[in-house]
Amino acid sequence: MHALKSLFNDLIFLFFPEYCISCSDSVPIEDHVFCISCLFHIPYTDHFDNFDNDFIFHFIGRQNLEYAAALFQMQKGGRVHTMIAKLKYKRRQDIGFALGKIFGEFYKQSFFCDDCDYIIPVPLHSKKLKRRGYNQSEVFAKGIAEVLNCKVNTVCLQKTIRTDSQTSKNRNQRLENVFESFVLRNSELLENKHVLLVDDIITTGATLEACVMRLNQIPGIRISLGAIAITE
Ligand SMILES: [Zn+2]
Repeated sequence: MHALKSLFNDLIFLFFPEYCISCSDSVPIEDHVFCISCLFHIPYTDHFDNFDNDFIFHFIGRQNLEYAAALFQMQKGGRVHTMIAKLKYKRRQDIGFALGKIFGEFYKQSFFCDDCDYIIPVPLHSKKLKRRGYNQSEVFAKGIAEVLNCKVNTVCLQKTIRTDSQTSKNRNQRLENVFESFVLRNSELLENKHVLLVDDIITTGATLEACVMRLNQIPGIRISLGAIAITE
């Protein structure tokens, strides 16, 4: 039954949506997932054309990275925010997959993005995964993987400790705490590989930075970053 359900879900993703995945009330333009208004208004970043962008700027001097790119700039309450909220809380996995495919197309056309061996979604703790039913970053990763024709790896990086309430800690304590919550499994698989680590929204970048610190313990690994959106 599970396999059948998963096959059914995969088939859904082959079709273009009936309604725009951003506003949900207009018909998308031909061969696209956005209506004409959303296509015009959604704030794409310049990250795929600009190596020195504000995403990689977050990590300069702290973490060794190949490159970093997010698809959209996000404003609270704006179109991108609403769209990602539907992906995370309204079971709209189709949105994550569609955005992954768009990311993949931009990636292929970028002059500095090169082949990657694995796409690694930022993992959720097993309890959170069970509650939500899916990891939104993994769905996004699957969309990218389909376009780039590479594998999604959800084995090597795991989140074993929940880190929900962090408000009382300062930045370094928070980072240390999040870092401890991620562990490596079968990490030899990633030795001397180039991985694209992906998340949904980049706000402070702390989660992603903790994952990068953990992955950087693997000999010869090269890491690039991807995201659906970055906050302004
Ligand atoms: Zn729309």
